[in-house]
Amino acid sequence: MIYVHVPFCHRKCTYCAFYSRVARGERRVESYVDALLDEMELRKGEQAHPIRTVYFGGGTPSLLPVDELARVVEGLRRCFDLSQVEEVTLEANPEDLTPQYLADLASLRFFNRLSIGIQSLDDQALRLLNRRHTARQAVDAVENARRAGFGNISVDFIYGLPSDFQFSIFNFQLVTHVSAYALTVEPGTTLAVQVEQGRVSLPGEDEVVRQYHALHEAFEAAGFRQYEVSNYARPGFESRHNSRYWNRTPYLGLGPAAHSFDGRHRRWNVSSVEEYCKVLKDFRDLRDLRDLKDLFQQETLTEADAYNELLMTSLRTVRGLDLALVPEEYRERLHRQVQPYIDRGWLQLSTPHSPLSTLIPTPEGLLHADGMAAELFV
Ligand code: SF4
Repeated sequence: MIYVHVPFCHRKCTYCAFYSRVARGERRVESYVDALLDEMELRKGEQAHPIRTVYFGGGTPSLLPVDELARVVEGLRRCFDLSQVEEVTLEANPEDLTPQYLADLASLRFFNRLSIGIQSLDDQALRLLNRRHTARQAVDAVENARRAGFGNISVDFIYGLPSDFQFSIFNFQLVTHVSAYALTVEPGTTLAVQVEQGRVSLPGEDEVVRQYHALHEAFEAAGFRQYEVSNYARPGFESRHNSRYWNRTPYLGLGPAAHSFDGRHRRWNVSSVEEYCKVLKDFRDLRDLRDLKDLFQQETLTEADAYNELLMTSLRTVRGLDLALVPEEYRERLHRQVQPYIDRGWLQLSTPHSPLSTLIPTPEGLLHADGMAAELFV
């Protein structure tokens, strides 16, 4: 699978700790696409597994004009075998999804899934987060996307905000997938400063848990089924791309700050857009592989790292952790460690006392999945 990172945003959301640059000027976007095409050329031999999903994430991929997206798509088609691709997602912000943009996007005949960052349907909450769109624009974006022929649409919400959900204005029948993330106050963000200075007051843990349950009920009532802590889908519309991440399928990450994984090594590209473009431009001009030493860093995962990742990703899904995948040396320790969580009702075994059992988080356990997994780490 392939991930393309688009590192630009129109402006910075208050809660965001991702690497992204506020885009100014077409030249910068053009240089970024030039560099991305160079990276594809360089790495086209790397993907040994069939590519089944492509995901454009960010940042804000819908900030790219469609003609620039077309250059990226052309590069992907030229460098990789996409004949087995099933799902191609573009992350988008509502304000970008005008009828014209969507028509142009559809004309590329490449993207078959949109993931739209709605976050909230309350204008006050959207202003608090420094989002550029209004609730009305979010609703319009989804309707425009359906009219343009996009039948597979996911929308993102954030809970843990001071206001409650205003779902009455939203037609869930138009979407196939929903994601809900708890608002977290990351150090170094504008939100962290606002909270510290008392300018923003966020709900306490009990209210956040209440909102989580309210969302869960609203999504289930609308016909979605939870398949991961933050993700719900109509049957057959689970995100194939994300599900593959959780199965630890190798992936190729292109663009500044993009991560790649080949089953054994994890590498991450330099995060600065300027540095990324410069390294690849120098390489293009001089064709000297030494110039690429600043493009990425890499680490080799130990067996313990791989096991910890398996715990973290599996316990966040309703499928759970297949005990047959746990290395022999950690099994006894794991059985001892999980008993208190089984007693507490957070985990259950699919077939108790069988070594081929699966450890499945209960709905309550899913709420504590990250903390529980961290406790089980070696
Ligand atoms: S649009 Fe997304 S990536 Fe960009 S600043 Fe907002 S949250 Fe961060």
